[in-house]
Amino acid sequence: MGLFDRLKRGLKKTSQVLKTDVRDLFKNGEILTDDHLAEFEKRLIESDMGVAASMEIVEELRKKHRGRTVDLSEIWKTVRDKLVELLKGDEGVNWDPNDELSPLNMAQQGPTVILVAGVNGVGKTTSIAKLANLLHQAGKKVVLAAGDTFRAAAVEQLTMWSERIGCDIVTKPSGTDPASVAFSGCERALETGADVVIIDTAGRLQTQKNLMLELEKIYRVIGKKVPGGPHESLLVLDATTGQNGVNQAEVFSEIIDSTGLILAKLDGTAKGGIVIAIRKKMGIPVKYVGVGEQIDDLQLFDPEQFADALIAE
Ligand code: GDP
Repeated sequence: MGLFDRLKRGLKKTSQVLKTDVRDLFKNGEILTDDHLAEFEKRLIESDMGVAASMEIVEELRKKHRGRTVDLSEIWKTVRDKLVELLKGDEGVNWDPNDELSPLNMAQQGPTVILVAGVNGVGKTTSIAKLANLLHQAGKKVVLAAGDTFRAAAVEQLTMWSERIGCDIVTKPSGTDPASVAFSGCERALETGADVVIIDTAGRLQTQKNLMLELEKIYRVIGKKVPGGPHESLLVLDATTGQNGVNQAEVFSEIIDSTGLILAKLDGTAKGGIVIAIRKKMGIPVKYVGVGEQIDDLQLFDPEQFADALIAE
């Protein structure tokens, strides 16, 4: 199955709701009224898109179509264009649906350093493995740095994945300072001429101050070894946790100054609209989505493709 079809399948429930709703709400040839719009807004909110984004979509419809004769294809075009705009944001991310690495900011020279953060349980370890696999498949030489040293299981799991992928990994004994793992990971990448080093970080939600100090230290040692690094600071979020997860993630996001989101477990939620709500709330581009537990279940998030899948027949 192609990527677009897999995405479409994952979003089937959401798109069915949207499509059916729109078909019985707006009928070709009728005049579009405020009542129609209010009802559509309600249903958008029910798809988990969030109030702010739903209002923006409806506002756009109001501006363009209210009081006019309904032309369903025109209405869809307005909704689609607005979705794309909401999802793209204005960070100037380079989206190329044919290049899975396109949204990543790669170093001009020397290794690219990717820092990955996220609260325990969101799917961080799995997402790192999937991303490593994606890079490996694209011909990049990858080093993993198992920096979540507070969790022996996370280190073991990452080691197992690295063996399966066939990429290098740097680990240290349980409890080692994560910054020292980050340092060694960068060092290994430089020694072996690796293209990318992916650094795992602690996922426990400690006090904000400790977390900040820990991450500051990690940033410092990375910058010392690889000037300009980290080039990407990706935050992993669980798409099934809704608003609560987002609030927790906001703390992380600010501390690591994240450049992008990986939205894991998108296959576990029937409401694909959550991607729009999270994008809007966090103000950071979604770069990848996790759609299953297997190593190749990570997809490039392309706003245009996603909007199409969401409103596809
Ligand atoms: P961590 O604690 O954040 O490192 O989370 P893990 O990577 O260990 O993942 C926690 C659980 O979520 C595991 O059982 C994973 O298999 C599962 N998981 C991770 N990503 C996905 C995904 O995209 N889809 C599904 N269905 N499960 C996932």
